[in-house]
Amino acid sequence: MKNDIIIKGGNVFIDAQHGFVKKDVLIKNGYISNLSDCLEGNNISEDKNIESVDATDKFVLPGFIDIHCHLRDPGQTHKETTLTGTKSAAAGGFTYVVAMANTSPIIDTYELWKSTSSHQKTEGVIKISQAGAITEKFSGEILSEIFLKSSKLVSSGDKHDTPIVFSDDGCGFNNPQLFKEAASLAKKAGFLLLLHEENLSLVNKGVIHDGEKSKKLNLPGISSSSESVCVARDLIISHEVDYSPHFTHLSSKQSIDVLIGLAQSNYKFSADTTPHHLFFSDKDIDGTSTNFKVNPPIRSIHDQNALKEAIRQGLIECFATDHAPHSAKEKDTGFTNAPFGAIAFETAFGALYSSLVIPGWISFPQLVSMLTHKPASLLHLENSGYIKPGFVGDISIVDLHKWTVKDAFASKSNNSPFIGKTLSGRVLKTISEGAIVYDREN
Ligand SMILES: [Zn+2]
Repeated sequence: MKNDIIIKGGNVFIDAQHGFVKKDVLIKNGYISNLSDCLEGNNISEDKNIESVDATDKFVLPGFIDIHCHLRDPGQTHKETTLTGTKSAAAGGFTYVVAMANTSPIIDTYELWKSTSSHQKTEGVIKISQAGAITEKFSGEILSEIFLKSSKLVSSGDKHDTPIVFSDDGCGFNNPQLFKEAASLAKKAGFLLLLHEENLSLVNKGVIHDGEKSKKLNLPGISSSSESVCVARDLIISHEVDYSPHFTHLSSKQSIDVLIGLAQSNYKFSADTTPHHLFFSDKDIDGTSTNFKVNPPIRSIHDQNALKEAIRQGLIECFATDHAPHSAKEKDTGFTNAPFGAIAFETAFGALYSSLVIPGWISFPQLVSMLTHKPASLLHLENSGYIKPGFVGDISIVDLHKWTVKDAFASKSNNSPFIGKTLSGRVLKTISEGAIVYDREN
């Protein structure tokens, strides 16, 4: 049975406007039960069934929500398992993650989604929302069985167990008419289509951002247009059917320019970017560590600044870690051959605090909003994303000290471009539904 927990003396997050206040937080039966200045005086702390957590000088935040990660289970458990993936997420302060469908096999049938979700409930240490594929086998040619069945189940009116997010992440979706059909169905059913925007013919076998660095290293470049033309196309199509799509892991200034332009004409969308696109630019790539090989690529400093400005203006409202584990053997095959992807959970908070809050792009409370109640609202999660009585007991306790990232992760893989980097801000404890699932001191 779960102990009840009292978190004492921390700076508790209220919201972006009110920031933090010193409060004690009591969690009972998995839910936040009380928020008070003086819980100590009423004998709660003497109750042996209540575990006491000292958060003096620390920040007590709602559990983080990641709209986009890869847990590799089923089929690629040599890279990550549901257990190691969720332990890694918990070590990064996350209590809810959306897992992409590019497992092996791809999650494109309702039956596979059900069995994967049920496995996740028993093995995961935090909540996982499993996404379904939009198209069969990510072919881009035919809508998947899970997408069609889920749309039908939801429109039949009864409350059914279906994915809430659909994505062909890992593959660009380059069939405009089929996308229009998907957007119409997603609108009716209230599903979020999470769009990985990539035109393969424009990628043209590139491996890093197409710019000075790709020329210098003599590596084939990935043009910004391979992303931005898809963003423009899919936003225009979505607008025709009055749908608001979600653009994930945006990387380029061109894409932001498209969104700024179309937002002025009232086109509706939501968007995220990743901690690594905000922390690194292609200047950091020297062609040796393939942990910098990610998709979309880490782009120029101009692209990075455009993403930061888009965050400051609220155009990008949340983050995708795009946690993408690969084994050392797979990654250690040179820049041309190595698979795209980097692990990201455990460095996400420090990378975001260091690249957005310290240089003054946004305030700390604004960053916390983007990690918590903003994605909660996008995903329609009830009683989640705030520390309020009646809300789920999901908490992340952090400090803002500097630390150097070591090659020691809870993830099964260690393909992180952050190894050796100094970050400010680190997770100390993570509580999921009232249970401590990560404790740095243990
Ligand atoms: Zn992707």
